Amino acid sequence: MDVSNQSHELNILQDLKAEFKLTYLFVAHNMSVVEHIADRVGVMYLGKLVEVAPRSELFRNPRHPYTKALMSAIPVPDPRLKRERIILKGDVPSPLKPPAGCRFHTRCPEAIERCKSEEPLLRETSTGYWTSCLLVN
Ligand code: SF4
Repeated sequence: MDVSNQSHELNILQDLKAEFKLTYLFVAHNMSVVEHIADRVGVMYLGKLVEVAPRSELFRNPRHPYTKALMSAIPVPDPRLKRERIILKGDVPSPLKPPAGCRFHTRCPEAIERCKSEEPLLRETSTGYWTSCLLVN
């Protein structure tokens, strides 16, 4: 969908949501669209949730390294503002045979030795904010 049609469709969804008090489960790869439509956001990597949080907090201060990389790829409309892009190295592993330990460790720029063998649990690290990373307390 082109940007103007996409914007129109998103506004219709927002109107329907308000009018009929609906809840959507909205799946998207475009983080700008997610920011526009979501109240809560779940970020998945290789079929697992790695972060679940209120939209504003997640976009303001992502905690999981994968979410940080996704956020760094969102274009900034003001050319005077610079955002450091986090480029993930390596290929995405097969979800049929995910890596041991943290599934993201083969591409994570913050990985430590423990990440290769220890699978992080999705934990509530502050009220309503869930993260799955050994480095996030
Ligand atoms: S547990 Fe380790 S590999 Fe996984 S996201 Fe956290 S730092 Fe990266």
